[in-house]
Amino acid sequence: MKYKAPRGTRDILPGDAQRWQLLEERFRRYCRLYGFSEIRTPIFEHTELFQRSVGEETDIVSKEMYTFTDRSARQLTLRPEATAATVRAYLEHNLKEGPQPVKLYYQGPMFRYDRPQAGRYRQFHQFGLELFGAGAPAADAEIIALSYEFLQSLSIKDLKLEINSVGCPLCRPAYRENLLFYLQPLEKEVCPDCLHRFAKNPLRVLDCKNEKCRSLAAAAPIIEHSLCPPCGDHFSQLLRALERLTIPFAVNPRLVRGLDYYTRTAFEFLCDGQGSVAGGGRYDFLVEHCGGPPTPGVGVAFGVERLLLAAEAEFLKFNAAPPVFIATAGEGLEEEALILAAELRAGGVAAETELMGRNLKGQLKYAGRKGCRHLVILGERELSQNMVILRDMVSGVQIEIERGQLTGRLKTS
Ligand code: AMP
Repeated sequence: MKYKAPRGTRDILPGDAQRWQLLEERFRRYCRLYGFSEIRTPIFEHTELFQRSVGEETDIVSKEMYTFTDRSARQLTLRPEATAATVRAYLEHNLKEGPQPVKLYYQGPMFRYDRPQAGRYRQFHQFGLELFGAGAPAADAEIIALSYEFLQSLSIKDLKLEINSVGCPLCRPAYRENLLFYLQPLEKEVCPDCLHRFAKNPLRVLDCKNEKCRSLAAAAPIIEHSLCPPCGDHFSQLLRALERLTIPFAVNPRLVRGLDYYTRTAFEFLCDGQGSVAGGGRYDFLVEHCGGPPTPGVGVAFGVERLLLAAEAEFLKFNAAPPVFIATAGEGLEEEALILAAELRAGGVAAETELMGRNLKGQLKYAGRKGCRHLVILGERELSQNMVILRDMVSGVQIEIERGQLTGRLKTS
């Protein structure tokens, strides 16, 4: 029987893994610059956590969760996103008692039973930021600024930031009514999903991907006119902060995002080809909803696979140099090669030795195929004189060099 990775999952092979590492390092660098610390939560959580926080009516909870019962009859779910888990950890470990705000970042796999296609997987990866305890627009601005700088650093072409306010539990119900008043006569024209949304969450009709629904949504009333004064002020202060930070944005009154917990700010970074590469927003009632004290929060999640596709050009430049290859010219020199490799590694030079028992020609071929820049050749004669041969694989030039000078020489070349 031939096994294949399950549909919607991917292996990250060694060549690719290097690009993942570079991207992860880049993200960490920006997190450090802004004072965010890493949190690692489990891959699975109690199903109820997601039902309660993400929302029963969202696509994620109603259609896309990988849920299972364990051997003790617990209902568990592979995390479809990490905000809920971060809130759970924030409460469980009393991070709310420490200095506020609490600024966290995470990275790791998420699981959604979505229809796989380019840039959409069932196991995908996210980087994310969560900021708890600060309700001011400056906190939203900080999350967006970090995201923007990180994305800018990846030289993503045609990066766009779209932003909206989805109001709060005070002003949203009136807008919801307005929207329903507009939508109800269109009952027969919207897609079945949207018809279902009429009753549960009509705002989601605004970001339905169906062409017909999109054209109907284009003429729908917009939320901006229904925002209560505090939500309106929050939004305008945030937009002003973004202008002062010279972060370009476009207000998209139809941006609502697929998770129920958003209040006030919702935003998305998009680019040509990949669509949405990151999305986030404010969730001022989520902590309370999960059993904690009233605690405002704001966050963002980046889709790592999409970032890598969008930033392809950026990481092509970085190809980590392969190790120096230590070849042996003659029988029984394998141990000597191991010792020399240990000397080089102790000096911080990456080194590999022959493990396949090939002759010198075969070893040279291997080093060439691996793209090794330098080759060290160990022969009987050189060994007895405490020398080695160092060959530059690009120019083909080779020199004899004292063994004790080899590490220093390789470090500077
Ligand atoms: P969300 O958690 O739905 O707000 O999504 C945040 C980001 O994660 C999106 O902008 C995408 O880049 C990425 N993303 C969401 N779902 C998937 C998926 N199924 N496959 C790959 N990336 C995804």
